[in-house]
Amino acid sequence: MNEQHSAGRFETLAIHAGQEPDPLTGAVVPPIHQVSTFKQDGVGGLRGGYEYSRSANPTRTALEENLAALEGGSRGLAFASGLAAEDCLLRTVLRPGDHVVLPGDAYGGTFRLITKVVERWGVAWSVADTGDPASVRAALRPETKVVWVETPSNPLLGITDIALVAEITRSAGARLVVDNTFASPYLQQPLALGADVVVHSTTKYLGGHSDVIGGALVTADQGLADELAFHQNALGAVAGPFDSWLVLRGIKTLAVRMDRHSANAARIVETLSAHRAVSQVLYPGLPDHPGHETAAKQMRGFGGMVSFRVAGGEEAAVAVCDRARVFTLGESLGGVESLIEHPGRMTHASAAGSALEVPGDLVRLSVGIEAVDDLLEDLTRALG
Ligand SMILES: *Cc1c(COP(=O)(O)O)cnc(C)c1O
Repeated sequence: MNEQHSAGRFETLAIHAGQEPDPLTGAVVPPIHQVSTFKQDGVGGLRGGYEYSRSANPTRTALEENLAALEGGSRGLAFASGLAAEDCLLRTVLRPGDHVVLPGDAYGGTFRLITKVVERWGVAWSVADTGDPASVRAALRPETKVVWVETPSNPLLGITDIALVAEITRSAGARLVVDNTFASPYLQQPLALGADVVVHSTTKYLGGHSDVIGGALVTADQGLADELAFHQNALGAVAGPFDSWLVLRGIKTLAVRMDRHSANAARIVETLSAHRAVSQVLYPGLPDHPGHETAAKQMRGFGGMVSFRVAGGEEAAVAVCDRARVFTLGESLGGVESLIEHPGRMTHASAAGSALEVPGDLVRLSVGIEAVDDLLEDLTRALG
């Protein structure tokens, strides 16, 4: 395995952690070790610990060490998708009879995994407003093993006080899982605030270029890390070498991208807030957002995700999405290009009638890093 020599501040770790120049050639970027098996020097004589790429692969190891460094954990694990990471985590920590507390606006795929798949193994779940400590306390049961938090949340940009919920969760003998996909480790580091495990869809800001599907788990609990690593290998939904390399490449620019995403989003929020066709802007950077103070305390910046409600209602919101040109109409988020979508009919269509249903007049933006004036002109034109 690569030893992790790199130290330093976030931006330095993003570029160097887990990625010493290749000892054989001096290549400054880790090679894509596109290989399934490794020659052994005599039976059981492994070079550098590698035997078979499901168990471990050097390119994936580089990514895993990098992710651990960025989140301040001791172990990172990279998966084929965010949901594969979540599946591995839930199968590792849950047994029949256990109970999970879910946020009211969990990512739809997380909600589906827990309520449609994990539930069938005899695991119970209930929904809480994780932004409200009383709601979390009321949802806890003696069998609760996991409290799941997403902050900022999707698509309503709700904020949860991670340190506060970590304390409540710990005193109930459960584990706090934080899905840190929307913030990225540059803006927020849940482990330092008391979370037990961080989940990522590396598909989003970490990859950052809309060209890869991937996921990750990071923890600082060595016992849990060993159990997760066992299940990662046993279940097998690992990140491939090329996908690991793409995410590593994306992470090198994470800090500068997040700064620009946040700056562009702040300008767009300013314009939307003053627009007569917009009835409400949801963004944790706004002083009147109910989670603003908490977000300011636990985040370095407010990020690139913005949602707003259109005064004319659902059809007007759909029309805004259809009229945008620089903002591409599409699902997903976190890439360099700006995206616009209608959650009620797109990402959250399956939530209709459930606890996760979203308002029909809602539009969600993933603000990219294009020239902000082009983005502002496009939105102003789309709003009519
Ligand atoms: C996209 C996403 C996921 C799922 O990740 P995949 O890579 O699509 O499997 C989980 N949580 C959040 C917040 C996401 O945005």
